[in-house]
Amino acid sequence: MLANKVEITIHPIKLAKTRKTHVSFYMKYASIVSKTLKKPIYQKFLKWMLHKENIQEHKITNIQIMVFPSQKKNGKNLAGRWRPQGEILIFPKKLRLCRKLIQKLGKEKVHLYIKHRARAALIHELLHIKYTANEEKVRKLTRKYFTIFTKHQNPQNPHIHTTIDMLFRQQKPT
Ligand SMILES: [Zn+2]
Repeated sequence: MLANKVEITIHPIKLAKTRKTHVSFYMKYASIVSKTLKKPIYQKFLKWMLHKENIQEHKITNIQIMVFPSQKKNGKNLAGRWRPQGEILIFPKKLRLCRKLIQKLGKEKVHLYIKHRARAALIHELLHIKYTANEEKVRKLTRKYFTIFTKHQNPQNPHIHTTIDMLFRQQKPT
């Protein structure tokens, strides 16, 4: 089961450097992501996707939900990372950017966005196991599979295309 491989990872140096209020925000964020990724309906979907793509589950050693965002010097907002030995890292969106989004969209929508972002990031990184450096293919398939899952989960949602567009415009996983 992939759900058993999901774990929350705290970077001790970042923990020491981060303000307490920010730490509590990121801890809450990580717990939302962990619950979202472990949900049986999503796990079932991932199992189906891995089967369809012929990706063997044992190739994934663990899925680490990183409590703190990745510090990239170019300012890019990294959602996930994949390592050839089978480790997948999922990063949060920066607090500052979340605040901006909350002002624009409201708390409820941002909450939903955080869940969507995490699901899409994991789909993306799982696909990298098969397609390795073919970023274009991975992005195309991520969008396809994410849309399948989201539509299946909530077929009545009239905002689904807005959500998907927003997600894939902002998200830059590698
Ligand atoms: Zn990628």
